[in-house]
Amino acid sequence: TIGMIVIDEMGRIACGTSTNGASHKIPGRVGDSPIAGAGCYVDQDVGGAAATGDGDLMMRFLPAYQAVEGMKQGLTPTKAVLEALNRIIAYHPDFSGALIAVNVTGHYGAAYHGFSSFHYTVFNPELKNSTVINAEVY
Ligand code: ASP
Repeated sequence: TIGMIVIDEMGRIACGTSTNGASHKIPGRVGDSPIAGAGCYVDQDVGGAAATGDGDLMMRFLPAYQAVEGMKQGLTPTKAVLEALNRIIAYHPDFSGALIAVNVTGHYGAAYHGFSSFHYTVFNPELKNSTVINAEVY
């Protein structure tokens, strides 16, 4: 999956995902990527989140929605993605996936579980160039 969250100069937020699908997938499988709240989610007053990983689990837990709701409750983006991953891992310790999130103030964070590492790219006026960042391991 490629997940993207963008804040424009007017402060409008959008997210999107593309996906290569899952290995050995059933023909016709839609997956999590196009499902709002699973692949990605935005609340214009809060921020956005996007997910990659085991989509068959993620579409049941809506981790992008959970991360945005966490930020709405006051969590930092990093704490919000960790909390959203925790909801899956509590039931499925073998889960593999990652979440990125950004809030309306432009603060961002990411976390992963079950991968050997996870990197994401940030571009904002402070960093000036696209910058690759290591996510938090859960
Ligand atoms: N989430 C995708 C899927 O299950 C897989 C991926 O992250 O590339 O369809």
